[in-house]
Formats: sequence, C-alpha cells, structure tokens
Amino acid sequence: MSNTIKRRGFMLVLSSPSGAGKTAIARRILETEENMSLSVSVTTRPPRPGEINGKDYFFVDMPAFEGMVQRNEFLEHAKFCNNCYGTPREPVRKALEEGKDILFDIEWQGTQQIAENAREDLVSIFILPPSMAELERRLFSRAQDSEEVVHQRMATAAAEMSHWNEYDYVIVNIDFEESVKNVRSIIQAERLKRQRQSGLAGFVNGMRSQTA
Ligand code: 5GP
Repeated sequence: MSNTIKRRGFMLVLSSPSGAGKTAIARRILETEENMSLSVSVTTRPPRPGEINGKDYFFVDMPAFEGMVQRNEFLEHAKFCNNCYGTPREPVRKALEEGKDILFDIEWQGTQQIAENAREDLVSIFILPPSMAELERRLFSRAQDSEEVVHQRMATAAAEMSHWNEYDYVIVNIDFEESVKNVRSIIQAERLKRQRQSGLAGFVNGMRSQTA
C-alpha cells in the first residue's frame, strides 16, 4: 500500500564548489525521483553551449533582474563571480503547498537566506570534491568555460568550501553512484519526517475512531 497521507513538500538544496559534481548528481536525482522537480533560477550569466533558456536557467539582462528584485519576486538571490542568480518565489510556494519537493542548485548565500526565512522547509546538502586536484581536473575536462573562468572558479572554490558546516548533510563525492545513493537516502528519510506529514493527525484519529 502506498503512502497517501498528505504532506508538505520540502526544498532540497545542493551546494558545492563548481566542479564537485553537484549538477550531475542533481540531474540523476531529477531523472529518477518521482515528485521532485528543479527550481529553475534566473541569471544574468550568458548561456553556456547547450544550455536552454527556461530549462537550465531563465537568462535575463541586469535591468530585468533588478526589476525582479524590486518587485520582491525572488525567494533568495545572490551575486556569484560577477553574475547575479535568483530563485523565483511563486513556483516554490505552490509546489510546497501541493506536497511536491523541489531541488535547488544554489550557492551558500542563497541557502543562508532560505534558512533564515523558511528553515522548516529546507533540507540542505553540501557536496565536497575528493581533492582540489580532482576539482581542477573536472573543471578543465568540462571544457565549457575559458581558462580564465576556470582559474576564477578555482579561486572561489576554497572560499565556498568554508561553508560546509552550515549544511544539514555533507557528502564527499568520491564515487558518483554512491553519492546519488546517499542523496536518495536523505530524500527518503526527510519525506518521513513527522512535521512534514500534515495529514498524520487526521489519519491516526480516523483509525482510532474506528475502534472507539
Ligand atoms: P553556474 O554559473 O556554474 O551555473 O552557477 C554558479 C553558482 O551559482 C553555482 O554554485 C550555482 O549553484 C549557483 N546558483 C545557481 N542558481 C542560483 C540561484 O538562483 N541562487 C543562488 N544563490 N545561487 C545560484
């Protein structure tokens, strides 16, 4: 019998320095997890080869981004490597209410903002690379960014990594399949949290009334 008890969705945040494997893990989770969708961010960064507007990001210019900030349309937003990134608020609110989980690929500043505003709906995971050498190798082998951008991202990585201890869970991404398995275990456990299962009281009361 499947679990039909009503529950509230949660925000699953994955953060890591660029190149630690977060995007690949996120992609696999989204392919295989029912009831989990991606929060598509807005960014002022130019699209990388192969990225699709509306799927990977909503690509906008700076005035459009600032307009969204002023209209309070972001759940969180932050600057990263000279580009702005933000999470549209409305799709998240709707999904949580409908009991759907949402995956976020965002950095630590955004995670902090969500923790301040909606701690009980947040589940955060930090992904660490096995070593700096491996991180650099992955960034270069990705071949999507120029050498200058890779160096800039390597420099940012050390600072980003210092935020590992602000997260609920930490995974060292040595083996991709193992990391995916670990993220799945976290998802399963978080779905069973008592506080999220808003239909539990009614369910239990219903059973108890049958025996009265
Ligand atoms: P990239 O340019 O490599 O796609 O993303 C750069 C960084 O920005 C990554 O760490 C990514 O997780 C983060 N990021 C992407 N979207 C958002 C967002 O909406 N908010 C915040 N705070 N960070 C984001």
